[in-house]
Amino acid sequence: MFVDCHSHLNDPAFDGKVPAVLERSRVADVGKIVVSAYDYPSLARTAALASAFPEVILPTYGIHPWFVEGFHDYEDLWSFLQRKECIAVGEIGLDFSPEFVHRDLQVESFTRQVDWAKDHRLPVIIHCRKAYDELYRILLPYEGRIGGLIHSFSGGENWLSRFVDLGFYVSFSGSVTRPNARKYHRVARIAPLDCILLETDCPSIATESTVASEVEPRHVIEIAAKIAEIRNMQVGDMERHTTENALTLFKVPQEDK
Ligand SMILES: [Zn+2]
Repeated sequence: MFVDCHSHLNDPAFDGKVPAVLERSRVADVGKIVVSAYDYPSLARTAALASAFPEVILPTYGIHPWFVEGFHDYEDLWSFLQRKECIAVGEIGLDFSPEFVHRDLQVESFTRQVDWAKDHRLPVIIHCRKAYDELYRILLPYEGRIGGLIHSFSGGENWLSRFVDLGFYVSFSGSVTRPNARKYHRVARIAPLDCILLETDCPSIATESTVASEVEPRHVIEIAAKIAEIRNMQVGDMERHTTENALTLFKVPQEDK
């Protein structure tokens, strides 16, 4: 069984398509799919999916750095996070790409959500672009009290070891499947096996075989195969390690393994 550790089946692009997507995932042996909210409307859509497909969908709730401006309904967010099926706080993070301003607001919202995660002993699912310095500076004081995954990790070798030392997992998306994605390949080659996760981030990141809008959770297998090739391992071993890591991080009960 594979686990897709970060997806957006709650995206309007999947409206009306989820049952068929889940059937293809089941056939491909993707047994658990983490669905992460990212803005206010997606909170309720995520909860609805988790209620409709409780065996497969593991929901997480959070406000993504692209959507923190104008978001004030933290009490609503906390109430979603207290639902018993919720497994993590996310998608949260920092994006200091030039097109995203409001850096102070991003930091404030991120810190607030990390604090909540720490107090309620939930892992975090982090989006980070061009902000690894700031991310590390914020997370360092939480060492030992917070964990989680950095999704579609783009920090390169230096940041890899620092975040692994802080207790974080790194998650690989379709980005690693591209033949010329050398930075991702280097990280995939050296990341400790007990820190690696798989994700599609569908419908946002293309794989070598599929355009972004057509990526589904079943494409985690293409990602696993690429990492296995880079590391000269069997896909089945990559499956075993990444699934074990995911179930451990998200505290999915043993009987579901
Ligand atoms: Zn995402």
